[in-house]
Amino acid sequence: MSSYDVVIIGAGPGGYNAAIRAGQLGLKVACVEGRETLGGTCLNVGCMPSKALLHASELYEAAAGGELSALGVEVTPSLNLAQMMKQKAASVEALTKGVEFLFRKNKVEWVKGWARIDGPGRVQVKLHEGGERLLETQNIVIASGSEPTPLPGVEIDNVRVLDSTGALSLPEVPRHLVVIGAGVIGLELGSVWRRLGSQVTVVEYLERICPGLDGETAKTLQRTLGKQGMSFKLGTKVTGAKTGKSSVTLTLEPAAGGASETLEADYVLVAIGRRPYTKGLGLESVGLSTDKRGMLGNDKHQSGVPDVWVIGDVTSGPMLAHKAEDEAVACIERIAGHAAEVNYGVIPGVIYTRPEVASVGKGEEELKAEGRAYKVGKFPFTANSRAKINHETDGFVKILADANTDQILGVHMIGPSVGELIGEYCVAMEFSASAEDIALTCHPHPTRSEAGRQAAMGVHGWTMQA
Ligand code: FAD
Ligand code: NAD
Repeated sequence: MSSYDVVIIGAGPGGYNAAIRAGQLGLKVACVEGRETLGGTCLNVGCMPSKALLHASELYEAAAGGELSALGVEVTPSLNLAQMMKQKAASVEALTKGVEFLFRKNKVEWVKGWARIDGPGRVQVKLHEGGERLLETQNIVIASGSEPTPLPGVEIDNVRVLDSTGALSLPEVPRHLVVIGAGVIGLELGSVWRRLGSQVTVVEYLERICPGLDGETAKTLQRTLGKQGMSFKLGTKVTGAKTGKSSVTLTLEPAAGGASETLEADYVLVAIGRRPYTKGLGLESVGLSTDKRGMLGNDKHQSGVPDVWVIGDVTSGPMLAHKAEDEAVACIERIAGHAAEVNYGVIPGVIYTRPEVASVGKGEEELKAEGRAYKVGKFPFTANSRAKINHETDGFVKILADANTDQILGVHMIGPSVGELIGEYCVAMEFSASAEDIALTCHPHPTRSEAGRQAAMGVHGWTMQA
């Protein structure tokens, strides 16, 4: 039996960052991972492979769709899907190996196998190499992540009916891909396959896409994706799926009730959300249980049972890699006896479609519901010189600031590379900046970041360039 200060279950962005920080702070740490490689959902079948395909398919479409030729670059592209998948796999492998390197560098022991909590301070591991190993530890950090939420009546086989993992590795370009769920996964992976030549239909239960996103931003995204050829069936539920050898027939109904219809596809992607993953964790051995949604609760990362901590997708909050990372750091600092806090009001979200969507803080609907008086400054990318010169003028930056104090309450952007711009507003909000602070800060010209400055000027009615 080996003894540790911390044993971490799961090596996703929650688990691996917790392990690294624990190593840095001189704690004796082991990280148990059931997958063959480190990095969790994010590196293996999530953020990273999806971004690899988004990048490659964006370049393909720029060449195939006439964008390059409009710039005077004549090429006749042909799609080599096998190579596209190969470069994705190579990048993923390099990244997971990078985490292995960081584990070695920070003296984190990687225990390869599936972990089960076996009473206070005990973690039993079913080792990949065979046999079991008991780890004795002062603290247990549960970072076991999440899995796709299944849809009753639409069984995922990852042949014709796919979850996100299946949709990241298709052997061919679908003729017609039906995506169930107009959330982040559906729109990102739907974009990948549409760019590569699929007809894409997105079926969404609600009357809008991306619930949770600022309404005006979501509407603009839907309109822009629609112009690109993605079609949407909103307010619609899927009641069943019949899978044949090379096609799937879906039965749809209006969400509010009414006549049913059928929709044929050769592939279906089910992307209706993710749920916490706690299978086989042995929670009962320490008296822990999940809520109705399968989620483990936490209070400042503590599970409610002494010395058992929870971080990342398995607990409350947005299911995002950087949120898991923030919690990882704060959790380990607390274990080490330091003060630490996660500011849940400043966790940005990015949708990596084209145009990108990036937001942080509150949306207009949320502020209205709170009865908070706010001012809006908005600037369109059609008036931003860099966007104009690059022919990427879809979208805007919108800044919401408190009507009395001018403090920035939310920033919502849709446009070129806005995922790279949102960090500025996270820093600003952490420092309780006002819209005027942004308006009076020099931004480089010509960049898209100037759109944010002009939007901030707009909060006080003096936008200069539109
Ligand atoms: P995970 O990454 O899920 O890691 C948990 C790990 O624990 C897994 O490797 C699992 O094998 C292991 N595990 C579970 N139980 C045990 C056990 N009993 N014993 C041993 N090991 C165990 N987020 C973003 O911020 N940006 C993005 O662009 C983005 N894109 C995404 C794209 C897709 C297609 C998907 C599916 C997700 C995406 N996400 C993105 C979400 C992001 O992947 C998750 O929020 C993040 O991975 C959560 O980290 P985690 O450490 O909590 O869990
Ligand atoms: P999501 O919660 O973003 O979207 C799910 C969508 O499916 C919602 O619009 C919801 O209304 C709809 N829906 C739910 N049940 C339905 C039903 N029965 N029929 C039709 N529509 C239904 O979930 P997701 O897209 O599956 O992504 C899962 C998680 O992964 C998200 O929480 C997200 O944070 C994370 N993720 C993040 C990124 C990123 O940061 N760029 C990328 C991919 C995934």
